[in-house]
Amino acid sequence: MDGVTLIDHPLIKHKLTIMRKKETPSSLFRTLLREISLLMGYEVTRHLPLENIDIETPITTMSAPKLSGRKMCIFSILRAGEGLAQGLLDLMPSARVGHVGLYRDPKDLHAVEYYFKAPPYLEERFCLVVDPMLATGNSAIAALDRIKKAGAKDINFLCLLAAPEGIKALRKAHPDVHIFTTAIDDRLNEKSYIVPGLGDAGDRIFGTI
Ligand code: URA
Repeated sequence: MDGVTLIDHPLIKHKLTIMRKKETPSSLFRTLLREISLLMGYEVTRHLPLENIDIETPITTMSAPKLSGRKMCIFSILRAGEGLAQGLLDLMPSARVGHVGLYRDPKDLHAVEYYFKAPPYLEERFCLVVDPMLATGNSAIAALDRIKKAGAKDINFLCLLAAPEGIKALRKAHPDVHIFTTAIDDRLNEKSYIVPGLGDAGDRIFGTI
């Protein structure tokens, strides 16, 4: 699918199955989410530019590759995004972290911002916007609108599960944003939950079920 990368490594598939099971406790759910985010981070950063520097090993000198100083920003869409952001931050400890908080107005269902904080020089950063669930795509689209308004240009979107409806909507609204997901599920139900899904990601991460 154009603009979408499905990261379906066997380790990820196995961990995701455990996360989907309704009896999996929050503590294990969080651990698995963190582990999957490390594996996703490996894939998402595959094309980061490198430059060679001269170093000395205990044996000899060599020209060795290092990341070429590209500034990174992980954007967590509150609150479930926190679960994915943590693992990525462990992998890339010098990345800056932005937060976007949105809620849906019950009257007309449009996204209302209640929190936004971004690091400086957003336009120079490689941005990873994270939310475990891409369901209708409404909150991802609103978050990306806001992040772009703040100056971000080079943006990827990372989620654990995506519904076909969410992928379609997000690709239409933000065709320049590449989507990385570990599974594409069947559909949304009448309450906009992903089917088969894993339930409410925020509730499962924070034990608020
Ligand atoms: N958000 C969730 O947490 N779960 C879904 O299934 C859909 C949206």
